[in-house]
Amino acid sequence: MIFNWLKDWQTQRILKRYPISHAFWHQLMTDHRIFDHLTPLQKVQLRELTILFTHQKNFSASNDFSLSRPMTLTISAYACLLILELGLEYYQGWHDIVVYPSAFFVERDEIDQWGVVSHQQEVLEGEAWLNGPVVLDWQSFKAESDQIKPGHNLVLHEFSHKLDMLNGRANGMPPLHNKMTREPWTQAFSQAFERLQHQVEHGHHAVINSYAATDPAEFFAVCTEYFFTAPNLLIHHFPAVYQQLVLFYQQDPNAQRI
Ligand SMILES: [Zn+2]
Repeated sequence: MIFNWLKDWQTQRILKRYPISHAFWHQLMTDHRIFDHLTPLQKVQLRELTILFTHQKNFSASNDFSLSRPMTLTISAYACLLILELGLEYYQGWHDIVVYPSAFFVERDEIDQWGVVSHQQEVLEGEAWLNGPVVLDWQSFKAESDQIKPGHNLVLHEFSHKLDMLNGRANGMPPLHNKMTREPWTQAFSQAFERLQHQVEHGHHAVINSYAATDPAEFFAVCTEYFFTAPNLLIHHFPAVYQQLVLFYQQDPNAQRI
């Protein structure tokens, strides 16, 4: 009881001490159509979550890139859209968000299942580390958030990996809520994933971004991107997946858009 009271008091103190100006918030909600479907009350919740999230996390920029408060607030608002009905504790256990001005180059050694080490070089737009940072390319995120790009949003993608990692390595199954059961989730996702893999392998038109066919973790992340940016497309192609995501995120962007 005392702990709850202390927590509430601390929360109120942070909200008062680090407010988001009305002008900035209004502009963000107006310019970014992804938030259109939220009710006024949900927008108030999102604003509070955004302040608390920005306060809890440590944002840093790569060399020679300057990260402004409007940038961190915009990234935070998108990240908090995923947990709007779940709560900030879904992002517990890690602190850092590193932002690059554009796509970044990584070089690392990887060990495969047979213990063979290979040297990998890749250009990435984002990545999410287990118990570690989220790394983002500002340019890609900006391009995908200035105007909704159906099925594509880097922040939604990387932060959904973080939710997936709440129960260990990303595998396409975040911890399900009490009222959810594994069977319908597994059935919906595995059938949809196999269908997409079949389309990609046979050179057919992939009904959603073919990157989702990489593995189940990427499938969950890409479906999350569709869920918020193009819910009608996800319902059309994978209705059972959409229903499971409604249960998981406790939001129904398509119903609320009508
Ligand atoms: Zn990914």
